[in-house]
Amino acid sequence: MNGLMMQKQLLISSLIVHADRHHGDTEIVSRRVEGDIHRYTFRDCHGRARQMASALTRLGVKHSDRIGTLAWNGYRHLELYFGVSGMGAILHTINPRLHEDQVAYIANHAEDQYIFFDLTFLSLIKAVAGRCETVKAFIAMTDRAHMPKDAGIDNLLCYEDLVQQGSSEYAWPILDEDAASTLCYTSGTTGNPKGALYSHRSSLLHTYAAALPDALNCSARDVILPVVPMFHVNAWGLPYIACMVGAKLVFPGPALDGKSLYELLETEQITLSAGVPTVWQGLLGHLEETGQQFSSMRRTIIGGAACPPAMLRKFQETYGVAVLHAWGMTELSPIGTVGTMKAKHLEMSPAERYAMQSKQGRVVFGVDMKIVGTDGMELPWDGATSGDLLVRGPWVVRDYFRNEGDGPLLVDREGQAWFPTGDVATLDVDGFMQITDRSKDVIKSGGEWIGSIDLENIAMGHPAVSMAACIAARHPKWDERPLLIVVRKTGTELSREQLLGFYEGKIAKWWTPDDVVFIDTIPLGATGKIQKNRLREQFGNHLMAKAAG
Ligand code: AMP
Repeated sequence: MNGLMMQKQLLISSLIVHADRHHGDTEIVSRRVEGDIHRYTFRDCHGRARQMASALTRLGVKHSDRIGTLAWNGYRHLELYFGVSGMGAILHTINPRLHEDQVAYIANHAEDQYIFFDLTFLSLIKAVAGRCETVKAFIAMTDRAHMPKDAGIDNLLCYEDLVQQGSSEYAWPILDEDAASTLCYTSGTTGNPKGALYSHRSSLLHTYAAALPDALNCSARDVILPVVPMFHVNAWGLPYIACMVGAKLVFPGPALDGKSLYELLETEQITLSAGVPTVWQGLLGHLEETGQQFSSMRRTIIGGAACPPAMLRKFQETYGVAVLHAWGMTELSPIGTVGTMKAKHLEMSPAERYAMQSKQGRVVFGVDMKIVGTDGMELPWDGATSGDLLVRGPWVVRDYFRNEGDGPLLVDREGQAWFPTGDVATLDVDGFMQITDRSKDVIKSGGEWIGSIDLENIAMGHPAVSMAACIAARHPKWDERPLLIVVRKTGTELSREQLLGFYEGKIAKWWTPDDVVFIDTIPLGATGKIQKNRLREQFGNHLMAKAAG
């Protein structure tokens, strides 16, 4: 017998409809690429999102068409979050920090029909436009007065013109909640970037769960500043959460330095912010220099990379800001765990509590996790034994978009499918997860991925290199940076500068390794694979030691 409750599809458009109806006068404030501050309300945003959906329909955009964005956090990007997904098309947020070859690869793999871009990325668009095979037009996210002159791009449209052509009477279609809504590529594994394809249902379930008190604890009394980019897993879901709970939203645009962020935190009276540790280092540095304090910020979500214990203490002890240490992945929409204390932890000494908070936290309801050994058997939750971290849940990927190989899931002895995260972790009796290592071969620098294999392949292309390995070395500012370890061919000369110069033009500049260590032999395992863990043990602190002089 079925229950007798109504069937209502869980749709992304319902979030902005709700925000308009119940929080219509709540503000959305954006620092614009044009330089000024823009203010409007959820009601205005809803009207313009409908105009955009209507304009896209007139352009011939159909259900499931992919629409790309190369954009900062701002109100126009937010309008596309609802305009594109709401009409049944798929919003594909592209990371503009990637090398132009990767951007072109991703746009072609996704078969983007249109690409919206902030003016900051005009030169990137110029570089890739001729290579984006399926794109019918590029849309500059600005008004007529700021449109680039003689850009040399065929089919260049103006965002504000497009909005004006749409109708704010547009009615959101009732879609199947399992329909795809959003596409986000990650380079978090080796090989080409892979697309996590979220659905309306997975996004809505994630929004409900992430807003809970023991997760991000968001309400209509909050003013939220997502510093984490909207091209990084939907700014961790905060734009959707703000609509669901009616929180004021503040977008920093391209200005992510400590001074600009502090200005916005104070003028808009932010209560909750979110970002990777590197961003907060800039902000804390600015506060230290100026001796300023926060007058309204109560909580900050730190994730994407491990939150350094010193940062935790600084926020909490010097500035009275509670840190929510969170862990997630693009493949998890992204939230998996948040480090919120249980009642019994409140009795702990400050030192013990800091140790708990340094862990990545416990799951939000919906996500299930376990750690397994190399034999696939589950390991104990004793806070000491570490194993490969597996997850499952309704907002965890089951496959990548247009994946030509085997799907990513593992099936355990009970026949249950799990997503292997590539993280190695412990779980304690209270379910707090702590990341101890990473089995995937990548480097995370300032919250962004760098592919070690790509860097090794380039080095191996140099005629004087016999063998090359690239590892994630700890770095005081960026958390991790690539360190190249090289064996020279006998009888050849090769300097650090020559090898680093060899990378020029082949990768994004910020992917260039920080240093090169020349050694005689690279340790190999039984199957001939480079033993990266041994190299990490030996050279993992190389850059820290160098920075300390
Ligand atoms: P992404 O898909 O870019 O969000 O990256 C996800 C990966 O970032 C995870 O699998 C971890 O390796 C790493 N990560 C995310 N959050 C944390 C955290 N709080 N501590 C340590 N590593 C993290």
